[in-house]
Amino acid sequence: MASAPQTSVKSPVMRKHECDFLVIGSGAAAMSAALTATVHGLKVLVVEKEEKFGGASARSGGCAWIPCSPQAEAMGYHDSREEAELFFRHEAGTRYNHETVQAFLDNGPEMLSFFERHSPVRFGFLGGFPDYHCDSPGGSKTGRALYPKNWDAAPLGKELARLRAPLRTGTFLGMQIGVNEVGYYMTAGRKLGSALYVLKCLMLRIRDQFRAGRTLRLALGNSLIGGLASAYFERGGQLWTQAPAKQLIADNDGVTGAIIETAEGLVEVSAKQGVMIATGGFPHDSALRAELFPHGARAPELWNMFPYGNTGDGIKMAKDIGAHFERDTKSPLAFSPVMRLPNVEGGLETMPAFFNRGMPGVIAVTRDGKRFCNEGRSYHDFSVDLIKVTPPEEEPVAWILFDHRVLRRYGMGPAYPWPMPYKHYIRNGFLKCGATIHDLAVEAGINPDQLEQTVSRYNLHAREGRDPEFHRGTNAFDLAGGDPEHGPNPCVGPLDKAPYYAIRVFAGCVGTFPGLQTNGKGEVLNENGAAIPGLYAGGNDMLSVTGGDYISGGCTIGPGLTFGYIVGNQVSGRA
Ligand SMILES: Cc1cc2nc3c(=O)[nH]c(=O)nc-3n(C[C@H](O)[C@H](O)[C@H](O)COP(=O)(O)OP(=O)(O)OC[C@H]3O[C@@H](n4cnc5c(N)ncnc54)[C@H](O)[C@@H]3O)c2cc1C
Repeated sequence: MASAPQTSVKSPVMRKHECDFLVIGSGAAAMSAALTATVHGLKVLVVEKEEKFGGASARSGGCAWIPCSPQAEAMGYHDSREEAELFFRHEAGTRYNHETVQAFLDNGPEMLSFFERHSPVRFGFLGGFPDYHCDSPGGSKTGRALYPKNWDAAPLGKELARLRAPLRTGTFLGMQIGVNEVGYYMTAGRKLGSALYVLKCLMLRIRDQFRAGRTLRLALGNSLIGGLASAYFERGGQLWTQAPAKQLIADNDGVTGAIIETAEGLVEVSAKQGVMIATGGFPHDSALRAELFPHGARAPELWNMFPYGNTGDGIKMAKDIGAHFERDTKSPLAFSPVMRLPNVEGGLETMPAFFNRGMPGVIAVTRDGKRFCNEGRSYHDFSVDLIKVTPPEEEPVAWILFDHRVLRRYGMGPAYPWPMPYKHYIRNGFLKCGATIHDLAVEAGINPDQLEQTVSRYNLHAREGRDPEFHRGTNAFDLAGGDPEHGPNPCVGPLDKAPYYAIRVFAGCVGTFPGLQTNGKGEVLNENGAAIPGLYAGGNDMLSVTGGDYISGGCTIGPGLTFGYIVGNQVSGRA
């Protein structure tokens, strides 16, 4: 094994701290490694740069893409390891990394069972949520994604105040809504069962207000990180917040610790079994972002779905001691269309446009009034298509268009379906509205003549449920995002019930793909391809195991949790 270059500690160090394993960052990858090592009896320290722990993972959907999960099997969905491997090979192409893919496939299912045994986290299988490229060889039409079930966070006690909150735009009356619950909220105005379900959630919300002054019912990423952290704290694990790692400590035998900045001054932390870097990639490193994705440099608001602490620190610290940062990925980022929403304080908040783009009666156009893709594609592919048609000197911007029937039946973004009010979104300029398609185009700043032509052409075929231009509704993924009660095509219908509406979306970031090259043990490799002893990486600091493509929902958190588990076992001598 090659040894790491010697690093001199330049700053004065005020105190020392010893542990077995130091984890830098506190998102899904970090908490997975920390909890695994703690279960195996190691003395672990997690350090988090920001005031709140959990990173982007706590804000996320918390979904984990894990082929061949025991949860899927238990529900009668049979997956095949060979098919999953074929999918990876096909999607990653020349960037396929046999060693890391095998490690992921070997350990993913085991990781799920481990956390169900050793933490309150419970995973549900999202059957019927196909892989984003489900028609590729090895792609699954039933899907491979799992979601963290809702969890009552009372056991977190006072630590709950330190857990990063979800995006405010993703909550409803302070309630967190699980992936599996979205359908109830969207149909509460027209289905009695759904209305009763939402009413029950409201009652629980009121109960929690009396218990804790907030919701205790955590969903999505909050449930995942809250559950892992709760088990970690219960076993005596330490987590310092507002404690950024500044520099790795390495000698000829490898990495032995790091310098951490705290309110009391710098601390030299030594870690006998190793250090893991999991600082969440580089979405807020403006220089690297501009280098890898020039469009992004002009549109900083694209990035703020991620916490501001994700500035690529882990990657920089590892590069400083000779680690290899691999920038060759299919896409530099994981993208999603993002809406910017004025809030009551006069600022702007972001909300990902994950849902309803593929419903009948919805299309998306660029400023020139032309459609550019099958709107029902995954949020990543939709954004990639938008970027492709945007001139390099312009910001990638599109408009999601729909009619009154869509607004009241499905809703769009924060404008929920009937009976929820929506007119305040017109008043504050978020929702553009026009009595005709021409009026709407003028209001929104879209080419009016072209938009009229686009809508007439689309409507002509949409009345028969066809989309000859982009073939929406012809694969399992599109159909899963459509309305099964709409015929003949659950994904295609005309825009013909005035008034008409438009919401502007930007190509935003939900993750970075380039990262530190590791082997299947999660060890970071140097420029010669040798492991740097004592240094591990996971999450978005690690080179994407997919080769840098968003192949399915959960394909960053699934590998993040799995490599965290692998590293936790490695440092504990359990591998
Ligand atoms: C709205 C939204 C929904 C999403 N939904 C999903 C989903 O359902 N499934 C999925 O797979 N992906 C999803 N993603 C993407 C996913 O959130 C990220 O890819 C993932 O959370 C990254 O995890 P991580 O462990 O690498 O980093 P993070 O969870 O971001 O954690 C990194 C932490 O490191 C800290 N840190 C940074 N520098 C330092 C330092 N110097 N010292 C100490 N700490 C430091 C940061 O402050 C941060 O808290 C979503 C993203 C968004 C924005």
